[in-house]
Amino acid sequence: MKFSQLAFIVTDDCNFCCSYCPQKKQEIYMKPSTIKKSVDFFYPFLEEDAYIVFYGGEPLLAFETIQYTISLIKQKYNSGKKNIGFSLTTNGSLVTDEMLKFFNSNHVELMVSFDGLAQESERNVGSREPIEKLIQKIQKEIYSNIKFSVNSVFSPANVRYLSASLQYIIEIGVTNIQFDIADNKPWDDKSFAILEEQLADLTDILAHFYDQNGTIPLSAYRKSMTEISTDNDNKFACDGGRKRIAIAPDEMVWGCFVFQGLLRDKQDHPDFDSYSFGKLDDFINNYQWVYPRGMYYYDALSQDYFCAGDTQCFHCDDLKNCSVCPAYAAFSTSSIGKVPPWVCHLNQIQKKEKIQFLQKIESLPPQDKGFERRAGGNYV
Ligand code: SF4
Ligand code: SF4
Repeated sequence: MKFSQLAFIVTDDCNFCCSYCPQKKQEIYMKPSTIKKSVDFFYPFLEEDAYIVFYGGEPLLAFETIQYTISLIKQKYNSGKKNIGFSLTTNGSLVTDEMLKFFNSNHVELMVSFDGLAQESERNVGSREPIEKLIQKIQKEIYSNIKFSVNSVFSPANVRYLSASLQYIIEIGVTNIQFDIADNKPWDDKSFAILEEQLADLTDILAHFYDQNGTIPLSAYRKSMTEISTDNDNKFACDGGRKRIAIAPDEMVWGCFVFQGLLRDKQDHPDFDSYSFGKLDDFINNYQWVYPRGMYYYDALSQDYFCAGDTQCFHCDDLKNCSVCPAYAAFSTSSIGKVPPWVCHLNQIQKKEKIQFLQKIESLPPQDKGFERRAGGNYV
């Protein structure tokens, strides 16, 4: 048992109502005693380089809990050799100067969820301007210890804004952008067609940016520069339980925070017992047998064991380039290991566009601008 990520779901509560968020809100907050027990028990089981991550709901509703956790971890590693990082994902609406100072002095990685021009289409009305101001502020020199990124999500409802929104986020200076295609609700043919157009526009925007700067700010496209392959030997596998462990406010232990969101209200469903590692106290006292029992299920969460409709992923030509989160997929299919058919089509569209992006940048004339192009870029 060795983990590279220990996650605390510090609250199930959230002050936003994003339409594509599959999580159900509950006003439940993690107790300090849960944090203390978890840190004391799991710290020896963390890798030398590991992350403590904070999820919600909106984790900044529980900012004091985050402060407390970081103080406990720092007491531990002040007397040891581990290199522990901290990260949290936030909707950005509650961030104060005091929080930014704290994040800066503790080198916390901050991912702000922001959809650019589409922000108010699926997230809260009135949230775009304050988040833009926050993004400008975080990028100032005084907060240079905060490793900052933006995460944007596009669904059929806001996909028409995708390329313009990402271009806008690039233009306001964000150098590390992640974007997700929401796949927990069905996409129809019209939405697929818009997505293809939008990704084609994005390819042009990114190729131009790459031509000017020698790198690109979108992490998925940076990765595609080194990862697209037809070799099916290296398959995606869920890190739940193997590398990650997550503690919920009700003291249930899960392999990953996504499983908690999927199953926490389904105590009568057989998957609840299979994918939860039980209550924290029981885990601490009996982990020698509780942990391997749970891993029997998590170990099977490899892409080649999944299926989409009648297709076994094992037989799919796109297996190597496919990485479907089994827990997110189960929000749609209600069955872990089953992938909704529209996800395959979304994957194929994205793969095609990434290949076109690679072809486009390979066709660019050689650089004479004082920098070398780097596969993967230097934006981290
Ligand atoms: S694939 Fe999904 S459930 Fe598994 S570790 Fe990644 S986010 Fe968590
Ligand atoms: S594209 Fe669909 S069938 Fe192919 S590996 Fe991915 S989920 Fe499975």
